[in-house]
Amino acid sequence: MTRRLGGETLVIATHNSGKLKEIQALLEPYGIKCISAGSLGLPEPPETGTTFTENALIKARAATEAAQLPALADDSGLCVDALGGAPGVYTADWAEAARFEGGPGRDWYMAMGKVEGKLQHLGTDTPRGCHFACVLAIAWPDGEWTAYEGRAQGTLTWPPRGTLGFGYDPVFVPLGDTRTFAELDPAEKHAISHRADAFAKLVADQFEA
Ligand code: IMP
Repeated sequence: MTRRLGGETLVIATHNSGKLKEIQALLEPYGIKCISAGSLGLPEPPETGTTFTENALIKARAATEAAQLPALADDSGLCVDALGGAPGVYTADWAEAARFEGGPGRDWYMAMGKVEGKLQHLGTDTPRGCHFACVLAIAWPDGEWTAYEGRAQGTLTWPPRGTLGFGYDPVFVPLGDTRTFAELDPAEKHAISHRADAFAKLVADQFEA
């Protein structure tokens, strides 16, 4: 049986205040008190895993060991079918390249262009199916852990459309829609996103089973 979160405070192993707020709001109804790894001064471990679960666990384990409290971490990315699942766990790295090449920082337009360039190189009839994946991992100080994977299926479009959201949202058209994630209202995106799917699985297993 899955280990369940009890009354202890949960460390959210992210230094991203947006993610922290979103996760806090999702867990509040279940009486879970959250604190961020950032506010505890915990360092961010390097994400050296080759799967989303490995990377989420690296972050959750580092936080639970340092704080001696249960910790929750997430890892996410875009997986393109015709590219064998790339960029996958390297999704953010593909945008980092701009920084290495002397640019100002993460360049999402360049990263989206890189994916598109690879697809076009494979031919105009290359299938454009892809999914966003999100893994949420919970780790406890005694070494126990559990993880939940969520997905949002879709296709890639070009050129990018829309100004909302972040990352690869302007090229991702979710299954059953014609708009990109960047053209959807944030509430609409949050209802169908990979993160929402992973959270639904976590809530069902942790609080409702
Ligand atoms: P991480 O989970 O913070 O390591 O981020 C992985 C990368 O995947 C992000 O920097 C984004 O580029 C991309 N990504 C994850 N979720 C989304 C999303 O909902 N929309 C667009 N891009 C996303």
